[in-house]
Amino acid sequence: MPDQLQKSLSTTLNEVRAWLEDLRALGLHDLQVADLRELQPCPPGIVGLDRGGDSACRQETLEEIRADLSDCQRCPLCNSRTRIIFGAGIASSRIVFVGGAPGKVADTTGEPLAGELFDRILFAMGMERSSVYACEVVMCRPGQRVPHQDEIATCRSFLQRQLAVIAPQIIVAMGEIPTSVLSDQSEDFGKIRGHWFKYQGIDVMPTFDPAYLLLHPHEKREAWNDLKEVLRRMRQED
Ligand code: SF4
Repeated sequence: MPDQLQKSLSTTLNEVRAWLEDLRALGLHDLQVADLRELQPCPPGIVGLDRGGDSACRQETLEEIRADLSDCQRCPLCNSRTRIIFGAGIASSRIVFVGGAPGKVADTTGEPLAGELFDRILFAMGMERSSVYACEVVMCRPGQRVPHQDEIATCRSFLQRQLAVIAPQIIVAMGEIPTSVLSDQSEDFGKIRGHWFKYQGIDVMPTFDPAYLLLHPHEKREAWNDLKEVLRRMRQED
């Protein structure tokens, strides 16, 4: 079992044990725990277990979100894609990288944030695709244009649902689209880039889109400063 997954499981078990001991201290000696497999996934927007009774539900899984997408035709981008680019990586990742929309390489390979530069960024951070989670706000390639606001609005709930499942400590928003979606504001990207903000209690670092960096290589130094800040915060939270 990978070290990170083992650590995450161990932390969760310790939290559950402490929670059960608290309940026992309150006099709850006959606790009945529902079999999570028998519960239905919570509706989007409800995170984790409900309070019990008829409305009890559990956190949905990434597989269930993918199944809900199916052969999605909820917006016009279904006409320009080769395939849907769902998130990829490990569900227990402490960090999630979010891109704006798939480019040509992603549309061909099926990998979110596909491209050599993103792989090099991960390598420089001491990470690899298999140790993180990566996804896109809009999951179908829009061709040569940027996605329209209504397309972003239609697809964003699938990003939000993936983030609710993974519950990372840190999100790296790569570019203007993920930054505006996660910050829920239209503040100038140039002002907000490189400054932490919160999404649902999760630290978010907005930085440049790798595709933008390919066209504007002089910004790579600034991007690396943002990512060093991410590494610093991850070390603080160890
Ligand atoms: S971009 Fe999102 S909402 Fe639009 S068709 Fe693709 S998966 Fe569906």
